[in-house]
Amino acid sequence: MKNKNISHVKILQSKLGMITLQVTQQCNLRCKYCAYSGEYDNRIHSNKRLSFETAKKGIDFLFEHSYNSEQVGVGFYGGEPLLEFELIKKCIEYSEANSEGKELIFSITTNGTLLTKTVVEYLCSHNVSLVISLDGPKNVHDKNRRFAGKDKGSFDIVMKNVEAIKKEFPEYYKKIIFSVVIDPLNDFSCVNEFFTTYDTIKDLHTLPSMINQNYLKHDIKRNNDFSTKYGYEMFKVLLSKLGRLNKSYSSTILENYYFQLKRDMFENRSNNDNRLPEKGHPSGPCVPGGTRLFMDVNGFLYPCERVSESSSVMRIGHIESGFDVKKCFELLNIGKITEEACKNCWAFRFCTSCCAIADNLTGLSAEKKLSHCRSIKFNTELLLKDYCTLSEFGFHFDEKINNIKFGSL
Ligand code: SF4
Ligand code: SF4
Repeated sequence: MKNKNISHVKILQSKLGMITLQVTQQCNLRCKYCAYSGEYDNRIHSNKRLSFETAKKGIDFLFEHSYNSEQVGVGFYGGEPLLEFELIKKCIEYSEANSEGKELIFSITTNGTLLTKTVVEYLCSHNVSLVISLDGPKNVHDKNRRFAGKDKGSFDIVMKNVEAIKKEFPEYYKKIIFSVVIDPLNDFSCVNEFFTTYDTIKDLHTLPSMINQNYLKHDIKRNNDFSTKYGYEMFKVLLSKLGRLNKSYSSTILENYYFQLKRDMFENRSNNDNRLPEKGHPSGPCVPGGTRLFMDVNGFLYPCERVSESSSVMRIGHIESGFDVKKCFELLNIGKITEEACKNCWAFRFCTSCCAIADNLTGLSAEKKLSHCRSIKFNTELLLKDYCTLSEFGFHFDEKINNIKFGSL
């Protein structure tokens, strides 16, 4: 245990690959499913913003803790990060001046409403990876993504900005990634058709995710036919992989499922010895603070931007005092709290549980963690079935198909 602690400390000191800076807690939208909408056990929108002094400390922290990482990244997150465009510029220029030969990448996740020509010109010239939130056609997108204090959705302005990027920065346009939040109350076919056929959108990458259930104070409602339509589109993706359906009829947003399938069932398995190790941990959790880190406007550190900022468990340090190694270790060792159940679980090697699902804001709850096992096993079973089906029909997972980034649904 002691040795493991030492190696974890070494990782924390040397392998950090990315810091995401929360530049503001404010946003010009009030999306219904936003993690800061008040519907989640999380903070709510506020006027707090990151100071340049604290931002510099965050960037220095990244460089100081990454001597074994050749490539490092700085991400900008909010609220809506472009409300703090001047601060973002200063952070980019400070990072560039201090990166000392490391390959430096930048990324921003934005609601897409503030992408003026000046902003895009700057992001493009500094090669900032641009992730824009877009949920589907106007009726779908505007249902959830609405301006603060106005009875108006954001679809029209987002599309106008994307069209302008296409016209004025065509090469940068090709690199746009859309973050698509899927609401199971919407008509999935309608969302799918938009991303698969709409001219300005269809050739760009997407990162789909379902509305986040973690920390949500109520259950998510579903349309009766959501699963049927979703399943049918998934079936078409598999048919297109087998060459039995023209790719143009296959869902671009569900294409990501194939990359997850390939990663979990083929690549991760081929990289490992096929036998179960004597000692192990359910796969899934990251090393908190090990490869990525999220810093809020107050300088508190968290494993990533998806955990609750109201949770004392998830605060793994502060920029002034550094990592709280004991807390990082507790999160890393999340498997310990359900050790007996996990030892006997067939999904052990494919488990996607992480510390966030066990977080009850004051501690890590075994009961809360185990309440997710049913859906983890259900999803694993689906992946296994689809993997076997494709393999039985002669599909070769080792053939290079495409090299896009993937997300998981
Ligand atoms: S744009 Fe993002 S931060 Fe703003 S309300 Fe919507 S989800 Fe929340
Ligand atoms: S599905 Fe549940 S029991 Fe199985 S390995 Fe994951 S956390 Fe443990």
